[in-house]
Amino acid sequence: MITREQVRELAQFEDPQACALSFYFQPAAPRNKAHKEDAILAKDLAREALRQLESRSSSHPKERSNSKKDKCESARADLDRIVRLSQDWRGNGGRGNGARAKAVFACSARAFWREYDLPDQLKGTELRVDRHFRLKPLAHLLGAFPSLGIVLVDRHRARLFELRLGELTEREGFFHPLSRRGRSDGFAGYDGGHAQRRVADEARQHFKFVAEFLKDALDKGMFENWILGCQETLWPQFEPQLHPYVSQKLLGRFCADLAHVPQKVIRSEAERIFAASQDGRRAELVREALEQARGNGRGVTGLRRVLHALQLGQVQTLLLGFNYAAQAVECSGCGHLDAHLVSFCPVCGRQTRAVVDVAEAILPGVIRHDIELFYVKDDAEFDKVGNIAALLRFRSEQNSNVRSISDNAEKQLPARRAGLVGRYRGVANS
Ligand SMILES: [Zn+2]
Repeated sequence: MITREQVRELAQFEDPQACALSFYFQPAAPRNKAHKEDAILAKDLAREALRQLESRSSSHPKERSNSKKDKCESARADLDRIVRLSQDWRGNGGRGNGARAKAVFACSARAFWREYDLPDQLKGTELRVDRHFRLKPLAHLLGAFPSLGIVLVDRHRARLFELRLGELTEREGFFHPLSRRGRSDGFAGYDGGHAQRRVADEARQHFKFVAEFLKDALDKGMFENWILGCQETLWPQFEPQLHPYVSQKLLGRFCADLAHVPQKVIRSEAERIFAASQDGRRAELVREALEQARGNGRGVTGLRRVLHALQLGQVQTLLLGFNYAAQAVECSGCGHLDAHLVSFCPVCGRQTRAVVDVAEAILPGVIRHDIELFYVKDDAEFDKVGNIAALLRFRSEQNSNVRSISDNAEKQLPARRAGLVGRYRGVANS
């Protein structure tokens, strides 16, 4: 499975020759006979991509014919390899036999090839050749599957699971059931006291230990949020031990018996709680961004203002309509994105080129700068403001320049967010 660092690496990649190839492979459901064979689909997509590449080259007559040829050759090699791979993937059996969703990012001209397994939830198989890798399906998945810790506790024991990109793993060796002897060792002073009191105190110490472990795990970035599974009666004893910061990261609880709950149940409970918390958070962020934008506060709406805020490094959370599409131009020199379709960059004066999908073009920057991203679906208010908005960390003074703003960015970062700097903040689907 792909890591945050690997996503950042993809976001940083750029090929000036526009031969960066992104292939997302979603195996078709085996029962769906009407569906085209996956390998045939991949072949068709590859042929189409090559045709586009060739027509793009020939539409630039100034380009030296040698470089034109190299460009097509290197992309052709990548495409061939991808078609062969998709046949292998398919050959390994249908979805039921373990064929998984995959992604390949390739640019052989620059010796770049990365292959990743993905959760089986891509919108479909697709192939793109462009200057940057296509990141939307990935961003979407990472938002739908953030890194979650799931902690199961009872009076004496605790188990920790991690849920990342749809995979549930038990972290062994974090918590062990304390042996009878081990438990009493730590509390020798109580040995002579009432057994009942000792048991209660042991439980309290145990909860405290788990709470401290959780704080440490969150501080270290082991996971971003967590979910608790325990008997309902234990919660009033466990809760007071949690650091406020740890409580804040708790997305929800479910009732579970630590020793007997099947992994399938842990996963489905965690996914249900996560989805509900994302829905709530998304709605709250949309409301806040629109309110702030109306009050000229920490919110902006509309492509032009959002691009401007991104450029100034002001954006904390970006909200994008699920099917948002708009044109823009991108500077060939500094990468500046502009909603006005100008021929020359207002920042550095170099020539611009058209960007067909601005929602895709802003993703590399969003990922590089750890900006939280939510895709918003079916929201009438959001639709009215143009299906794009951002919540800002701070708002610049009207006359300050870019430098002073980015200096301020560090200082004005709210403490609660400071811990998240350098961590990929994820993107949520609808
Ligand atoms: Zn420029």
